[in-house]
Amino acid sequence: MRDFDYVIVGAGSAGCVLANRLSARGDKSVCLLEAGGNNLSPLLHVPAGWAATFNNKKFDWAFETEPEPQLHDRKIFWPRGKVLGGSSSINGMIYIRGVPIDFAAWVQAGAKGWSWEEVLPYFKKAETQQTHHDELHGSDGPLHVEDVRDKRPIQDTFLDAMDEFGIPRNPDFNGSDQAGCGHYQFTQHNGRRWSTASAYLDDAKKRNNVTILTHAVTHKILFEGIKATGVEVIVKGKKQRINGQQVILSGGSIASPQLLELSGVGDGNRLQKLGIEVVHNSPNVGEHLQDHLLSKVVFGTDPETSINREVQGWRLGLSSLNWFFRRQGPLTTGSAPIGAFWYTRDGLEAPDVQIHFASGATLYNNEGKIQPTEMAAMTAVVNQSRPESRGSIHIATANAVDAPKIHANYLSTQLDRDTMVKGMRILIDVFSQPSLEPYLKGRLSPTPDINCDSDDELLDYIRGDASTVYHPTSTCSIGKVVDENLRVMGTENLHVVDASVMPYVVSGNTNAATIMVAEKAADQMLTAAI
Ligand SMILES: Cc1cc2nc3c(=O)[nH]c(=O)nc-3n(C[C@H](O)[C@H](O)[C@H](O)COP(=O)(O)OP(=O)(O)OC[C@H]3O[C@@H](n4cnc5c(N)ncnc54)[C@H](O)[C@@H]3O)c2cc1C
Repeated sequence: MRDFDYVIVGAGSAGCVLANRLSARGDKSVCLLEAGGNNLSPLLHVPAGWAATFNNKKFDWAFETEPEPQLHDRKIFWPRGKVLGGSSSINGMIYIRGVPIDFAAWVQAGAKGWSWEEVLPYFKKAETQQTHHDELHGSDGPLHVEDVRDKRPIQDTFLDAMDEFGIPRNPDFNGSDQAGCGHYQFTQHNGRRWSTASAYLDDAKKRNNVTILTHAVTHKILFEGIKATGVEVIVKGKKQRINGQQVILSGGSIASPQLLELSGVGDGNRLQKLGIEVVHNSPNVGEHLQDHLLSKVVFGTDPETSINREVQGWRLGLSSLNWFFRRQGPLTTGSAPIGAFWYTRDGLEAPDVQIHFASGATLYNNEGKIQPTEMAAMTAVVNQSRPESRGSIHIATANAVDAPKIHANYLSTQLDRDTMVKGMRILIDVFSQPSLEPYLKGRLSPTPDINCDSDDELLDYIRGDASTVYHPTSTCSIGKVVDENLRVMGTENLHVVDASVMPYVVSGNTNAATIMVAEKAADQMLTAAI
């Protein structure tokens, strides 16, 4: 039995930030519990290594959804980081914050104090920005945000095609206007992935008021009445009790609601049926799940244009040397180097779709691992920024080692289906612009027999093709499960701090917003503790 001021469950994007900030003053002891192991593997530091972590149980929880009714009953693969740094150690590294109306909607949902003006200082506090030096960016935070290193002519050609379609260039998607097309920036530093483990934990580890336990799977929160007093955790096969003045769940959008339910905080009827004693009846735990769903367009191209041959066979050796000695080449890229935010209809305050483009193509092999196609190809994907569809994540048994049931409920509203069809049509139109024509060798997906002028055929293609952009949020939303200070309502000394507290998914990739949430939460907790 051990006692700490703060016990943090999960060393992911949010957990690492908290461990650092809460221990920085030196007057509080912090215990950080991570189910996965250390982050020493090069796969977690070479940016392109992320693809090799998929379905690798050492680093990936490798969840899947239940059959999705609107996606031809397909189960969708959901990777999640299981290692120091959590999903920030295996993600695509794209740095996007979202738009001011996202946070206005949070405030409307009950997140007092989380307006754009109030969260901006925390985005800045986290950031060291390489290129954009203005009032919107930070210059001395732990999180390095740097430009794409592997710039290629085909990226400019694709941007030209977007321009021809009518999407103007935007040098900074996190500037005053998100709309437009351009290069993404990555959470990387000198060509290495910059997970929150690198950004925040490496410093915190050196402090003697920080204890980090890896291979430590938390099974439940311990309560005296409604007051959380610690957690029960299995560390390398041994059960331990770890006491905390404050218990903070940072297990992410899947594990945080799972742990609440396992510990008696959730829908009372559901918990009683599983034989779990109810600590607090909180029917919204695990509800209101949101995610971004993508669909793709793939075209064949010539081998010189596609990145594919450089990341397989003997050329992969050359690319690895290029990364190792020069921090250059294809392995410096996380997911997509370029993209866009644009509108599918008039009258919107902010773009409603996001595009990612890569000059390569991948498929899942028989082991469920992602690998480059042998054929030279390029891929563009589109997702809706602010979907209406909501799903849920709930435990199916009282056993902590059983994965919860994920019902993403994708495309369950007409607006979401229409937006995806229109988004796909933008991609198809971009591919038909004159700039790209010399580089295209036939459409591979949707296959040429699919009539993309028909909404029905395109929607049917999306149903059979779509997959996640890996952005689940909102299963412990502010205003529904936690209050604006991220305290679990109806309990004491218990917080949730991770992507699950976002009342709505932000219009973009979710890592930056998760880090912001943790920065603000740490500030709030330290202020409350003075
Ligand atoms: C493959 C992939 C690609 C992505 N690409 C991007 C991108 O390019 N840009 C972007 O902005 N976002 C991206 N995201 C999303 C982004 O990384 C996540 O939104 C963010 O990391 C979520 O942070 P979190 O702290 O909520 O959870 P996580 O970072 O997932 O952290 C949760 C941690 O809790 C641990 N944990 C869980 N259960 C327990 C338990 N019972 N006991 C102890 N520890 C536990 C986990 O092992 C994990 O380390 C991607 C995500 C994935 C998976």
